[in-house]
Amino acid sequence: MRFLIMGPPGAGKGTQAVRLAERAGAAHISTGDIFRSNVAEQTELGKTAQGFMDAGEYVPDEVTNAMVKDRLAQDDALKAFILDGYPRTLDQVDKLDSILEELGSELNGVLSLVVNKEELIGRLLKRAETSGRADDTEEVIRHRQDVYTAETAPLIKVYGDRGLLIEVDGIGDVDEVSERIEKALPR
Ligand code: AMP
Repeated sequence: MRFLIMGPPGAGKGTQAVRLAERAGAAHISTGDIFRSNVAEQTELGKTAQGFMDAGEYVPDEVTNAMVKDRLAQDDALKAFILDGYPRTLDQVDKLDSILEELGSELNGVLSLVVNKEELIGRLLKRAETSGRADDTEEVIRHRQDVYTAETAPLIKVYGDRGLLIEVDGIGDVDEVSERIEKALPR
C-alpha cells in the first residue's frame, strides 16, 4: 500500500491515517508529527518550522520536501506507506512524483476525507479549549482553513484526473469513518 490521506485541518485524517497504517502494516508518515517532534526537541529543523506552524502557515516547500525525501527512503517506507499531510502544494506534488520515481515506486491511491467548513471550525474550537495548542486560536484556525482552500484543495482535482482519488465522508464518529474507509479501499 502506497497511499496519501488528504483532508482539511480538523477532518480527522491523522487519526484515520494511524488506524489505516496499522491495519495495512504500512509506515505512517505525518509531516505535522515530524515537525512537532522537531519543535519539541528544538532541532534546527524545528526552529525553522515553529514560526510558520504557530501562524497557521505552511513550512517552506524546500524544507518539507527534503524531510519527506529522507523519510520515504527508509526501509519501512520502501515497503508500504501512508503519507499524512503531504503533499500540500502543487510544487510538493511534483516533488513527490520525482522522489517516488527515483525510488522506483508509485502511488496506489489518494484517500480524501470530506467534511464541510462549519463542522470543522466547530470541531477545532472544541479541541482548542482542551489542548491549549499555540496554533489553536480562532484566528489561526480560520487562517489554516483558508490556506488549505487556496493551496491544498486544488490537489484533489490533480489526483482525481489521475484516477487515484477515493473520497470518503468524514462526518461521524471515528469508528464509522474507519468503516467507510475500509469499504471504499480497493482490495
Ligand atoms: P498537521 O498536523 O498535518 O495539520 O500539520 C501541522 C503544521 O505543520 C501545518 O499547519 C504546517 O505548518 C506544517 N506542515 C505539515 N505538513 C506540511 C506540508 N506538507 N507542507 C508545509 N507545511 C506542513
